[in-house]
Amino acid sequence: MGPGSPSAAERCVFCDIAAHRSPAFVVFEDDQTIAFLDIFPFTRGHLLVIPKMHGARLTDLPFDHQTALVRTLDVMCHRAERLAPDYNLALNAGRNAGQIVFHVHFHIIPRYGEANPFRATSREPLGDDDAQALVRALSAG
Ligand code: 5GP
Ligand code: ZN
Repeated sequence: MGPGSPSAAERCVFCDIAAHRSPAFVVFEDDQTIAFLDIFPFTRGHLLVIPKMHGARLTDLPFDHQTALVRTLDVMCHRAERLAPDYNLALNAGRNAGQIVFHVHFHIIPRYGEANPFRATSREPLGDDDAQALVRALSAG
């Protein structure tokens, strides 16, 4: 699938969030990008940073949308450091790389000293109260 809108048959959950048709705990937004809390966080403050334009993977996007995404990553990595100085920045491209949502997104996963950051952990759903605390911590410029 190239850039643009997915077809009606391929309704995209992240396009819905980007267009404010579906709810999310949004912490940053500009014309081309939006950042919000992951609904099944690996760690507290796990963020997703996405382009508003639909594309399955980074290389599907026009270059100016890629650079807009990197600018927002710069902002959000700085803000993630409010939670923990260390974090993983990850992008999964394709099923074999673990991609589940086929709208390009970067994960920012704060790290608090887990023994093995890459181990599979059971993931609890994001709780409303903590999500609101995180939005307060991460929304302000
Ligand atoms: P992927 O494996 O595709 O790189 O990661 C997709 C991520 O999106 C997962 O971490 C998953 O928890 C998150 N996710 C899936 N659906 C939703 C949703 O509707 N809202 C939010 N906030 N996150 C979602
Ligand atoms: Zn999409």
